[in-house]
Amino acid sequence: MRRVYLDHSATTPVDLEVATLMMTYYTEKYGNPSSVHSFGREAKQALEEARNQVAELIGATPQEVIFTSGGTEADNLAIIGSVETLRKKGNHIITSAIEHHAVLETCEYLAKNGFELTVIPVDEEGILSVEDIRKAIRPDTILLSVMHANNEVGSIQPIAEIGKLAKEHGITFHVDAVQSLGKLPIDVNEMNVDLLTVSGHKIYGPKGVGALYVRKGIRVVPLVHGGGQEKKRRSGTENTPGIIGFGKACQLAGQRMAEDAKHQTKLRDKLMNGILQSIDHVKVNGPSGEKRLPNNVNVSIRFVEGESLLLSLDMLGIAASSGSACTSGSLDPSHVLLAMGLVHEIAHGSLRFSLGRQNTEEEIDYVLEQLPKIVERLRMMSPLYDQVNHIKQAQ
Ligand code: PLP
Repeated sequence: MRRVYLDHSATTPVDLEVATLMMTYYTEKYGNPSSVHSFGREAKQALEEARNQVAELIGATPQEVIFTSGGTEADNLAIIGSVETLRKKGNHIITSAIEHHAVLETCEYLAKNGFELTVIPVDEEGILSVEDIRKAIRPDTILLSVMHANNEVGSIQPIAEIGKLAKEHGITFHVDAVQSLGKLPIDVNEMNVDLLTVSGHKIYGPKGVGALYVRKGIRVVPLVHGGGQEKKRRSGTENTPGIIGFGKACQLAGQRMAEDAKHQTKLRDKLMNGILQSIDHVKVNGPSGEKRLPNNVNVSIRFVEGESLLLSLDMLGIAASSGSACTSGSLDPSHVLLAMGLVHEIAHGSLRFSLGRQNTEEEIDYVLEQLPKIVERLRMMSPLYDQVNHIKQAQ
């Protein structure tokens, strides 16, 4: 069966060059980077090279990069690790309503443990207002955590402006850049970011590897204690092949960023326009043009369930994702779509396609050929659609 992968915001395939390099560090250069012998030294050297590569992609110095087990751990380390030392200054934290659960749940955990939390809403495009953040700042605000680009609707936040505001008020600024790394230029200094989360598996690197950028002078208390690796900030024997793969993926992402963005923007617009032209009662979720990630398409298709759409697409080999999270057996609509003001019914019928380097125009044509047929078939089973259609015909 034909297979079309359009779920790159969930994860990406590992680049062959990355995988080949990693294999060397699994089977030949497998030393522990803490060992003093030559095996250890060659692993250590490659680890430090990877640190340089990650740092370079975000405009940091290598000393400011701590490797972690992924974006989730980096978000936890940034938030929990920083507030412990900041607590003497205050206990108020600000975040946004559309953060990834790795940030939202971590902030909520702190809110249950004595911190005060303000969650800033977004507009109907999924964008934060800098003015709203300004108004939420208090003398006891110690941390502001805002994502660079949203994983569901691709909205890009005005990070440099928010960073300027945070700096003016002396507030530590954390940015989750998991979805923007390799897709948008990032410069932690230009953006006035103090802590920045990145992850390997969204940029054609391995899963289970990420990093936290920690600006020189900002203190994070470790969450993982032990042998004192990563300058005592994250203990545990380093996932050397994974980290080396992540470094290589960063290098490749930097080289290919412009080309990738051009290619994916073209496919994104083709897919979005094609859906709008061939299916009625469709709403595009998220911003347009420059304010949207080049690889994100998110639409709500009325009178169909997102899950049914997903399953039907999957039967034709097309992998996408829906705006619902299946938690404890119930289908909850996405908190991001709800925060953007969508009603439950419309949020339920939403689909996310996230494009990648290897997708082709022909694959988009295949989706545009199949999706309208699926929608038509599913709507035949919808009494509500039937009603709306009758009303339309009678008019
Ligand atoms: N933050 C965002 C915005 C994400 O999209 C993800 C993963 O989907 C994460 C954090 C978590 O990263 P990881 O899967 O590396 O733990």
